[in-house]
Amino acid sequence: MTRHYNFCAGPAALPTAVLERAREEMLDYHGRGLSVMEMSHRSPEFVAIAEQAEADLRELLAIPENYKVLFLQGGASLQFSMVPMNLLGQGGTANFLYTGIWGKKALAEAKQLGFAVHMAGSSEASGHTEVPTQAELALSSDAAYLHYTANETIGGLEFDYIPDVSVPLVCDYSSSILAEPLDVSRFGVIYAGAQKNIGPAGLTLVLVRDDLLDQRCQRIPSLFDYQAVAEAGSMVNTPPTYAWYLAGLVFQWLKHDIGGLEAMATINARKAAKLYAAIDSSGLYSNPIALRNRSRMNVPFVLADERLDKPFLAEAEEAGLLNLKGHRSVGGMRASLYNAVPEAAVDTLIDFMADFEQRRG
Ligand code: PMP
Repeated sequence: MTRHYNFCAGPAALPTAVLERAREEMLDYHGRGLSVMEMSHRSPEFVAIAEQAEADLRELLAIPENYKVLFLQGGASLQFSMVPMNLLGQGGTANFLYTGIWGKKALAEAKQLGFAVHMAGSSEASGHTEVPTQAELALSSDAAYLHYTANETIGGLEFDYIPDVSVPLVCDYSSSILAEPLDVSRFGVIYAGAQKNIGPAGLTLVLVRDDLLDQRCQRIPSLFDYQAVAEAGSMVNTPPTYAWYLAGLVFQWLKHDIGGLEAMATINARKAAKLYAAIDSSGLYSNPIALRNRSRMNVPFVLADERLDKPFLAEAEEAGLLNLKGHRSVGGMRASLYNAVPEAAVDTLIDFMADFEQRRG
C-alpha cells in the first residue's frame, strides 16, 4: 500500500494515524461487535464518542463555557443562510467583508433570502491580493454582525488580524480552523466545513455564543435553528455519526500526536514559509498575494508559461504528488497544506518543483 502526498483543497488529506485507527475499529468498535457506522446515534457508545469529540475540541480551542458547539450537516455553504436566519430576527443589516469567492457567496445567500446586506470592506480593487485593513472597514450604522472569511481557500488570501468591531463577528473558518490557537471569545459565531482540517465531508462545525441564540427569525426550520440544535445536543435528527467520530479521532491526533495547536501552528508556519520561499526564489513559479496575507493553508501559484501546466501536473502525479491543480475559476496550481499534510510532503513538492524548473523552465 502506498499513500501519496495529497494537496487537495477539500475533501483533503486526513492523518494516516487517524485512518489506521478507524480501520482497526471499523468492524468491531471496542469489542461491541459492530461498527460506529451501524450504531444508533442515541446509544451510550455513540453518545460517549460525540461527547469526547466535543470535549477534545473545547480543550484544543480553549472554547469558553458560554459557547455552544454544534455538529451539523449542509456544509459551510448552509451556514451562509443559517447565520442570517439565526442572527437577523431582530432586524438590522448583515455586514460582509469581501475577500474572495466564499465571502461573496455568503453575501449572495443572505441577500437571496431577502436580508439587508452591506459590504463593509473589500479586497476587490487589489484583485483579491490584499485584505482590507482595520482602518478601511466601514460598517453600516445598523449592522447586526460582521461576516468575513478568515482564509479564502481559492485565492489563497488569509486575514492577518481579527477585525475589531462593536458588533458580533461571524467568521467562516472552513479552511484554517485548528491550524493555530484561536481566541474564540472574539467571535459571535465561527463555522467550518469539516473536510479540510477537521475530518471527512458531511459534517459542519458551528461555535455560537450563548447570547446570540435568541436572535433568530420566527419562521425557521428547526434543523436550521441554532437554539433548537443546541438544546438537542446536535441530535434534532440523525447526525452524520461516522464523520463526527472521525473528527473526534482527528482531535485526539491533534492533542496527542501533534501536541496541541501551538505545536501545529509552528509546523504549519514552517511548511508555508518553505514553499513560498521556493516560489519566490524561482524564475518559473509565482504567487501574487501580499506577504502579510499569504495563506498558510492554500498556496496558489502559476507557472510563467501556461503551456507547462499540463506536464507539471502529469509529472507531479507520477511523482506521487496529488491534486495540485488550481481551482477551475483561477487556473494555475494550488498546494493545500492543511494540518494533515506532513512536512515531508512539502519538502518533496519543493524538490519536485526545483527539478521541474531545471528541466523545463
Ligand atoms: N467557505 C470556505 C472558506 C470554503 O473553502 C468552502 C469549501 N471549499 C466553503 C465555504 C463551502 O464549503 P461546503 O462545500 O462545505 O459547503
